[in-house]
Amino acid sequence: MAQTETPTRLEALKEATKVADNITRLIPYRPGKPVAEVERELGITGIIKLASNENSLGPSPKALTAIHDYASKMHVYPDASSFELRNALSAHLNVSPDTLVLGNGSDDIIHLLGVTFLEEGDEVIQAYPSFVRYEAAAILNNAPCHLVPLTSDWVHDLDAMAERINKNTRLIFITNPNNPTGTIVSAEALKRFIAKVPERVLVVIDEAYYEYAAPAPEYADTLDYVRAGENVVVLRTFSKIYGLAGLRVGYGVMRPDIANWLHQTREPFNLNLMAQVSAVAALADTEHLSKTVEMNEAGKTEFYRVLEELGLEYVPTYGNFIWFDTGKESPAVFQALLREGVIVRTGDVFGAPTYLRVTVGTQAENTKFLNALRKVLSSL
Ligand SMILES: *Cc1c(COP(=O)(O)O)cnc(C)c1O
Repeated sequence: MAQTETPTRLEALKEATKVADNITRLIPYRPGKPVAEVERELGITGIIKLASNENSLGPSPKALTAIHDYASKMHVYPDASSFELRNALSAHLNVSPDTLVLGNGSDDIIHLLGVTFLEEGDEVIQAYPSFVRYEAAAILNNAPCHLVPLTSDWVHDLDAMAERINKNTRLIFITNPNNPTGTIVSAEALKRFIAKVPERVLVVIDEAYYEYAAPAPEYADTLDYVRAGENVVVLRTFSKIYGLAGLRVGYGVMRPDIANWLHQTREPFNLNLMAQVSAVAALADTEHLSKTVEMNEAGKTEFYRVLEELGLEYVPTYGNFIWFDTGKESPAVFQALLREGVIVRTGDVFGAPTYLRVTVGTQAENTKFLNALRKVLSSL
């Protein structure tokens, strides 16, 4: 192999690594920087990350115990059908196990929906700003993705989305609550929208923050659409309130015939052993869940109070993060907050250059962030 390479050989090597145009258009996901990396760069410690809407209370202690109990079994392949977790979810949600598809995070289900149902010529509709992985699934499968701007109140514009439907539309994504804005569409509005969608279209409702929003009376119970046999796929995850983001567990609930196609496409072992056993344990830990909701409600109140005091416009949230206008360029605010030891998300990447999205954390984290924000905004 150590011979000098002739141009023709180089050309031949390049030929072998050529990719389709759509692959060149994929943009790698930009995750929030890991705490350890920022600490190394800035030479400070004690940095907190309020950038990815994780559960600041950590995982359920029951999930930790389950992982400890199963650690000695990690030489064995996991159950490819995730039997225990599927049954636990089936009972928890009151749906049949054959309506459930589990994934390596709900990102995996989004990917599978794209690979399974999109062919060249098909089109996708999603809101903007919203979650970025839907468009990635569209690009990967050569399907144009129409981004429909949110209303001026940062809510999905379902009328505009309905107008975007044409004969090629195949998948529509609704993020409820929406990320990064924390807004929801009401049960009534969603019902009117679904009634307008032609039967050959799949409506995917991403409920990554379901457990935070569920107590609100205006929040839709979308599993009813699945139970009624509609072309509706509901996505949920263990990454957010359940505190298992690092293990990757998400799921979709859908009509069994839709689920069967995804089972046909998915990798056989797309849920690892630790993911399966910890999710079963976390699901049963209602105490950890209510503690988290309580922490979030208290945190929201504190955020609102300080944001109002600072005269900043914010969007009331149905999730565990707050979208607000700093009135200054968000990358500058971000850098200044970083030096104060807090990692957040900037709005510029979502087309809102003066906004930030900040996760509601523990009381100590919230205080640290809000004090840093006060200080930073008075000096910028
Ligand atoms: C966090 C998030 C997800 C991803 O969840 P995973 O299960 O970790 O892949 C999906 N959708 C939205 C809107 C999210 O905010």
